[in-house]
Amino acid sequence: AAKDAGRSTYKLFETAMADEVQLRRSLEIDLRRALNREEFEVYYQPQVDAKSGDYSGAEALIRWRHPQRGMLSPVVFIPLAEELGLIGPIGNWVLRQACRDAVTWPSHLSVAVNLSPAQMMDRRLPKSVKSILNETGLDPARLELEITETSLIGNDVQALAVLNELRAMGIAISLDDFGTGYSSLSYLHRFPINRIKIDRSFIDRIPTDVDSAAIVQAIAKLGGSLGMKITAEGIENEEQWSFSKTEGCDHLQGYLFSKPIPGSEIGALFDTKDSAERAA
Ligand code: C2E
Ligand code: MG
Ligand code: MG
Ligand code: MG
Repeated sequence: AAKDAGRSTYKLFETAMADEVQLRRSLEIDLRRALNREEFEVYYQPQVDAKSGDYSGAEALIRWRHPQRGMLSPVVFIPLAEELGLIGPIGNWVLRQACRDAVTWPSHLSVAVNLSPAQMMDRRLPKSVKSILNETGLDPARLELEITETSLIGNDVQALAVLNELRAMGIAISLDDFGTGYSSLSYLHRFPINRIKIDRSFIDRIPTDVDSAAIVQAIAKLGGSLGMKITAEGIENEEQWSFSKTEGCDHLQGYLFSKPIPGSEIGALFDTKDSAERAA
């Protein structure tokens, strides 16, 4: 009986594996045509100034409206797009859409766009960015590009050249998910980085968890003394807001302020805020 049970467990496992392979294969086929079929959408999550609570900009976050599977998270399809070599065109599409949207927002607001390591390895990246800025008319000072440490590891020379070109155009560079990767302090001074985004996993545990609190404190202090701006990601409650503010974080992002929302909604949110200020 034990043997039978083992065999049927294995059978289940095999079936699960086969399902997995099939799901992947069908997602692959769909992903290859998603761009042409206009199935992607850019959502935006507002960022606020830690002291005043005023909007300072928004991060662009891609979504895939799959015709059968519904709205898919980038966590599911971005790694697949990277593997299939589709991240270049998808990344350019996000950037173009984000610039088009941001140009309609009040001019003190910026937009942040995520870059995959594969995009950073492409020597044509600065040129593509430049032509998208020209085409959309967005002031480069309003664009921020988010990279991760993975983009820098083992790709020093190329990454430095690309980042220098982007910086020379007036674009800001931020280091996303800081604290989760190698968090090598040498990166912070070897690369032209303007901003650090402290990973949500630390923010999640403050102020109760003393280790996370110490890590947030240390990153904010270090970044601040290197002349960088600090963003805290994943702010979900007032306590996390006040702790991050006190420790010197400049900008905040998280569900406390808003979840990521469609472009039409963020435009309205920013406009309402702006007209409220004008009326006051
Ligand atoms: P990320 O760049 O670190 O983006 C922040 C993620 O945290 C977003 O998930 C956002 O919805 C989520 N988040 C923000 N505030 C909170 C909060 O208070 N609580 C919780 N629980 N979550 C919060 P999302 O949109 O699912 O994106 C996941 C990741 O996918 C992004 O992480 C980024 O690495 C990647 N991604 C998204 N859009 C793009 C893109 O256009 N290009 C590339 N290359 N990657 C992208
Ligand atoms: Mg990001
Ligand atoms: Mg992040
Ligand atoms: Mg992330």
